[in-house]
Amino acid sequence: MLTGIHFLLTYMCNLKCDHCFVYSGPDAKGTFTLSQIRKVLDEATKIGTIKWIYFEGGEPFLFYPLMLEGIKIARGMGFKTGVVTNAYYATSEEDAELWLLPLSELGISDLSVSDDSFHSEEEKDNCAKRALAAAKRLGLPLDSICIGKPTVEMGIDKEQDKGAPVIGGGAMFRGRAVEKLVEGLPKRRWEEFTECPYEDLKKPKRLHLDPYGNVHLCQGLSMGNMWETPLSILVENYDADSHPICKPLVSGGPVLLAKEYSVRHDEEYVDACHFCYLIRLALIDRFPQYLAPRQVYGLE
Ligand code: SF4
Repeated sequence: MLTGIHFLLTYMCNLKCDHCFVYSGPDAKGTFTLSQIRKVLDEATKIGTIKWIYFEGGEPFLFYPLMLEGIKIARGMGFKTGVVTNAYYATSEEDAELWLLPLSELGISDLSVSDDSFHSEEEKDNCAKRALAAAKRLGLPLDSICIGKPTVEMGIDKEQDKGAPVIGGGAMFRGRAVEKLVEGLPKRRWEEFTECPYEDLKKPKRLHLDPYGNVHLCQGLSMGNMWETPLSILVENYDADSHPICKPLVSGGPVLLAKEYSVRHDEEYVDACHFCYLIRLALIDRFPQYLAPRQVYGLE
C-alpha cells in the first residue's frame, strides 16, 4: 500500500556528494513553489492511503520558509511529516536549535540527518553531530543516515556466497555514484541481475515527487507526470504491467530490461542498480516520459 509521499523540494544542494543519486549540487535547477506543494497535498489526501509526507532534496533547508510552510500545511491536513537534511546550518548547537525549533513546534515525526564522510570530513565535531545534539535537546524524533565510501569485504552474510566479495558502505549505484564510485569495485556477470532488489515496483509504498512533476518509483524512473495527470489519478491507474520500463524490471530485473529493448551492454556490473541505471540511461531518448528528468542521469 502506498503510504509515503516524498517531496524532492529542490534539486539544489550546498554539497555535491559523490554518492548522490539525483545529481544534486549548488547549480542544480528545480524547486517546488508553494502552490505546487498545496496541489500535491490535496492530491495526497485524495489517494486516501498516504500517512507520511517527507521533505527532502537536494537540501530542503536551502528553501527554509517554503519547507516550514509545507510542513505546516501537511500537519494541518493530518499527515505525519519528516525531513531529511545534511544540517549545513548547524554552525553551533545553539544555532542548530534556532533552525530546528520551528520543526519541533510544528510536531514533525522524523528528522533524518546525514552524518557520514560524504557530508563532512570531521568525524567528531561536525554539522550533523551538532544538529543531532540540538535535536535531541528539543526532543525531536531522530534518525541519522550514514553512508560510507564503498568498501570491499569478504562475504560473511548467509545470502552471499561464502568468500565472495561484498560491497559495504551502503552507497546505491545510481546517479552520480555510478560516475564517481564504481571504479575499482568488484563486478559480477550481467546475467545474475534478474530482479530489482530494492524497490517494490508493482506495489510501491512510497513515491518521490520532483518540481518538474515527475513521480519517481526509483530515482529517474517515473510513473508519469503529475502536472499533466493529477497525482491521485496517476496512482489509481498505475499498473506496472503497462509501464514500458517497470514491466520488464518486475518480471526479470535489469537483465530482462536490457533484452526487451536489445540494449548493448557490458559483461559485468557492480550490482543490479548499476546495470539498471546504465540501461535506463541508454533508453532515455526512447522513453522521455518515463525516464526523467534528464538531470538525474547527469544530462542537460
Ligand atoms: S536502480 Fe533499478 S534495480 Fe535498482 S532499485 Fe532502482 S529500479 Fe530497482
